[in-house]
Amino acid sequence: MLKTHGCGDLRAEHVGRKVTLAGWVNRRRDHGGVTFLDLRDRSGLVQVVANSEISEAAHLAATDVRNEWVVRVEGSVQSRPEGMQNPDLPTGEIEVMVDRLWVLNAANTPPFPINEETEVDENVRLKYRYLDLRREGMQANLKLRHQVVKYIRDFLDERGFWEIETPILFKTTPEGARDYLVPSRVHPGEFYALPQSPQQLKQLLMVAGVERYFQIARCFRDEDQRGDRQPEFTQLDLEMSFVEREDIMALTEELFTTMVEKLLPHKKLLNKPWQRLTYQEAMDRFGRDDPDIRFGLELVDVGEAAGGSGFKVFESVLESGGDVRGINAPGCGAFSRKEIDELTEYVKQFGAKGLAYLAVDESGEHRSSFAKFFSEEKLAQLLEIMQAEPGDLLLFVADEPAVVNESLGRLRLHLGDRLDLRDPSVLAFLWVIDFPFVTWNKEEARWDPSHHLFTSPMQEDVPLLDSDPGKARGQQYDMVLNGLETGGGSIRIHDRALQEKVFHLIGLEPGMARERFGHMLEAFEFGTPPHGGIAPGIDRLVRIFADEDHIREVIAFPKNQAARDVMAGAPSPAEPRQLKELHLKVVDTD
Ligand code: ASP
Repeated sequence: MLKTHGCGDLRAEHVGRKVTLAGWVNRRRDHGGVTFLDLRDRSGLVQVVANSEISEAAHLAATDVRNEWVVRVEGSVQSRPEGMQNPDLPTGEIEVMVDRLWVLNAANTPPFPINEETEVDENVRLKYRYLDLRREGMQANLKLRHQVVKYIRDFLDERGFWEIETPILFKTTPEGARDYLVPSRVHPGEFYALPQSPQQLKQLLMVAGVERYFQIARCFRDEDQRGDRQPEFTQLDLEMSFVEREDIMALTEELFTTMVEKLLPHKKLLNKPWQRLTYQEAMDRFGRDDPDIRFGLELVDVGEAAGGSGFKVFESVLESGGDVRGINAPGCGAFSRKEIDELTEYVKQFGAKGLAYLAVDESGEHRSSFAKFFSEEKLAQLLEIMQAEPGDLLLFVADEPAVVNESLGRLRLHLGDRLDLRDPSVLAFLWVIDFPFVTWNKEEARWDPSHHLFTSPMQEDVPLLDSDPGKARGQQYDMVLNGLETGGGSIRIHDRALQEKVFHLIGLEPGMARERFGHMLEAFEFGTPPHGGIAPGIDRLVRIFADEDHIREVIAFPKNQAARDVMAGAPSPAEPRQLKELHLKVVDTD
């Protein structure tokens, strides 16, 4: 090794030792005959002193170096002089007096500072990702991700899981997104699909008698890059045989609870055991199936007070089968008209036609867009249902249920951010269960699986698949953390007849079902154990653990928002020769 110690590992106990260090120059300060270098490697920083009286040559060499040069030094550890200690630095009690210094590699001036956490345009960061990753915060993210994955591997190994790799070149795997296709050179006109998840393969491993499988699996989904998405992302993919819903949920819960306790002792777990909500409850109380339960501001149904209130807008929505629901934003009663207008514009993005409001000032007086239409009695009822207190702002949306949920669910999160109620030091895990088995796809006039094609309906709801599919519940469970879906799973169908019934229900023609999933149907006839699994998203979990705003911050080499790798330049045109070999022609379809 070219070094004996990590720069950041030296302490007072090393005083008097001869050490060799190697790393990057974080900063250089010239004080005449003495030059100070902060030398940095993965372990941290240490102050290195090149004093011309100790070594003329080393001092001369140190005078030439610049930030981000790679140097190696040999010297002895000494206590810093009285008053020169730096309590903010783990190595702040000592410094290394240099005898010899070698420049291992010079560096151009970096396009952005490495030695401080400044805001830098993201495309510049991504173009020079190898420099971006040198920064302290990014190093911490890479380390945390490693620790999370290692914890998972150790935890599951102790419980008898085998880690098994599955192919990247595969066949279409329906997780609801578009596939990435790979043309075959040896089979003209045919394509592999990159797996959207190893779903089918892990189920086939259960047929194969593996019983407990996991994989840190790369998944590929060709989706628009809105929100927290990347074309490729990583899941902890897991499957078990001879289990029920509770078994998978208990295992997952123990994995992440103990992981957080060990790796993130500074975070507070809101619930132990994790809270559980049925899908219906989540929608009723939070308007979403991935609620953030770190704060209140829950949605309240005010249909009873709104019906017969005299306010036509509310009444007609109720008559046509819609909902009137509201949120009480405590302490926001003094919001200006402009602020309320902004909230109105906000909910309009999600389909709401407007936002009715009632502000209660500190003396109990109202300011409202609709109260004048209400009878006194109905208004009192409304205030009671909303548990209104002086200083509160009540906000209402009246519309069809899906619009009310979407707009108030979003407004709740928006207010949570604005009022600083989403405490990043708290981790609020929860389960959402009892999802509808299928949802109605209006455009295509058919049922869609609400999870995926292989999820089993609740046993007792199987007859509903014939009589009233919309009422059947699936054996699905979603893991939610701080308002983000961080994993989903289910107990699977393991019976050919039921699987075929589900294919039929969602409108998959028997011919097409055989062509796409014949291997699954056939496997189900060779002794398939009952099985189920889950796939928590590693990128999302680590990004929440690391207090980051996007999964790009916890992926070493992510694509940018336009799905490009701006460092290497991908995607890029292929050589005509390559296209020919692949039997492909690029044509303009405009
Ligand atoms: N394959 C599923 C997904 O990617 C997870 C699962 O059902 O285990 O969402």
